[in-house]
Amino acid sequence: MLDSGFRRYDKFGYSNVMAYDPDNIFAKILRGDISSHKIYEDDGTLAFLDIMPRTEGHALVITKETARDLFDIEPDALAKLMGVVQKLAPKIKEAVGADGVLIQQFNGAAAGQTVFHLHVHIVPIKEGVAPLPHAGQMEDQAKLAATAGKIKKTLRDV
Ligand code: AMP
Repeated sequence: MLDSGFRRYDKFGYSNVMAYDPDNIFAKILRGDISSHKIYEDDGTLAFLDIMPRTEGHALVITKETARDLFDIEPDALAKLMGVVQKLAPKIKEAVGADGVLIQQFNGAAAGQTVFHLHVHIVPIKEGVAPLPHAGQMEDQAKLAATAGKIKKTLRDV
């Protein structure tokens, strides 16, 4: 349901009806108030590298909707977000020479969500290399910039 400009969507019986916070960190990235290592953008989505990557190439695809989580967005907009995840993941995997891709998405603090703006993690996985813990350690900015550069090359024709 929509309420005072904020989505409070509880049709799945989901009990978290807290309002979307327009000052969350991803909203600030969308507005350009803070920088990110951007790899892709279209009219409905933005993708950039996670600042605390679990593996090299760990990216976040975020919707441009004001949605807290998976239960706070219309199905068509969610499908658009997932379409971008499906398009970017194999290219990111290729860019960093990974063997597989872990797709993660957290809903609610109890489930591990730390930023309350709907996003999907793309985590490229190399055979035999365990990913670091979720949101564990800040990556060097120069390393993130270099990885973003590699990924953008594989995304040129996307
Ligand atoms: P989640 O726990 O699913 O809400 O994940 C939020 C993710 O955002 C974590 O993996 C963080 O490392 C990442 N993160 C937090 N702040 C930033 C930022 N400024 N730029 C890029 N990634 C961020």
